[in-house]
Amino acid sequence: MSHVDADVLVVGASLAGGAAAKRCVDAGFKTVMIERKSLPRHKICSGIISPRGYRFLVENFGEPPDEAFHEPKRVKGVNFLFRNGLQLPMEFTEGPTPHIYRKHADHHVVRRSRAEIHEQTEFLDLQSDDRGVTVKARRAGREIAYRARYVVAADGPRSAVVAKLDPRFRDSIWWFVVGQKYYKADLDLDPGYFHFTIHPKLGYYNWTHPEAGCHIVGYTAEHGDHWPEGHAKVVEYLKDRHGLRIREEVSREGCLENFGMSLTNHFVFGRRRVLVAGQAAGFLNMMAEGMSCALHSGAIAGEAIVEATARNRDANALYETMVQSERRRTVDQWNPLRILLANPHEADLKAAIARFPWADRLYMVREMLAYCVQYRGYQWLAPILSAAVRRLFLGRY
Ligand SMILES: Cc1cc2nc3c(=O)[nH]c(=O)nc-3n(C[C@H](O)[C@H](O)[C@H](O)COP(=O)(O)OP(=O)(O)OC[C@H]3O[C@@H](n4cnc5c(N)ncnc54)[C@H](O)[C@@H]3O)c2cc1C
Repeated sequence: MSHVDADVLVVGASLAGGAAAKRCVDAGFKTVMIERKSLPRHKICSGIISPRGYRFLVENFGEPPDEAFHEPKRVKGVNFLFRNGLQLPMEFTEGPTPHIYRKHADHHVVRRSRAEIHEQTEFLDLQSDDRGVTVKARRAGREIAYRARYVVAADGPRSAVVAKLDPRFRDSIWWFVVGQKYYKADLDLDPGYFHFTIHPKLGYYNWTHPEAGCHIVGYTAEHGDHWPEGHAKVVEYLKDRHGLRIREEVSREGCLENFGMSLTNHFVFGRRRVLVAGQAAGFLNMMAEGMSCALHSGAIAGEAIVEATARNRDANALYETMVQSERRRTVDQWNPLRILLANPHEADLKAAIARFPWADRLYMVREMLAYCVQYRGYQWLAPILSAAVRRLFLGRY
């Protein structure tokens, strides 16, 4: 078995991983990143990065190359589709935001981090002690042992690192299956928006938007559901309501998602020299915008390691403290009190609704509430309300 020593080992050549690695490399630490796929790697994602996320990306890694953008290159906002045919367009407050091609944008970020990258290297297991972490990984059928002072887990929603830290974790949260198909098609909806259905009977999270000459139609079901069947319902709905005319199905893909973590304020930040960042930690903003919080939480994990080394402190304790700002920002987006009394999103939902006559406003709010009721089986209401009360009285989650 070969051995590699590093100051910091990052698992996952992702946005969170790239941001963590950059902070560590900048501080002069030997930083190695392992990624199970070949780079540049494909990532299922609509690629609509929030203005804050994109600003962070450019400030830290420079302008991405042209190939890191999809066509259309910018998205104006989210357009909610109601079952009576009403459409509620909600623009990003700072104007249209980039529509990035994850394959190349992520590659840009991880290359610019200047970490040493080991592709096709899959994390298998780890063991921590007081001085560091030993990680077992596999490349081309052979095992490799890494030894690092710290590990940053940035391996996404189905994190193998988190599963090793807590073998019961995967059974402790709800999993959702996301499926999307690419069609050559025409659709009678504004191509400048990400369209999202508010329909209490159509499924949890359905969307459509144009990308690279195709229309994507996506559908979300509970893990274990037969997702293509549910997907067909959304296609029929879009045909019926919004004139979807399919010429050809080009491809399809899917994955498992940990959607409930940030909305129930349930995060996993790691322990014993392992710091968990990005969606592996549970970070996901409203409308499944996970890129900005992946970048920010990754950078904070890197900063915590740098700070802990400089001041001889516990990196996990520092990370838990430092990442609270990002936690607050993310959970605020799901907090009903913040939605009512403040404006936690990078778009103004209340202003968008206020443009409509009263009867439409009431209809839209009623439909949104009915849409939320379909989640009642998950017992999310109690943690959402308890987080909201905590935020109200303590100012934090
Ligand atoms: C259909 C869909 C649409 C989305 N649309 C948007 C959107 O429009 N805007 C937005 O902001 N967010 C969107 N998201 C969410 C966003 O994609 C994620 O939140 C974000 O990618 C999380 O980034 P990350 O850096 O935490 O991890 P990821 O991007 O998931 O990266 C994890 C990396 O770790 C690697 N890895 C995994 N396991 C191992 C292992 N065992 N060993 C080594 N490497 C490993 C993976 O190959 C991957 O490269 C969408 C998600 C889905 C599923």
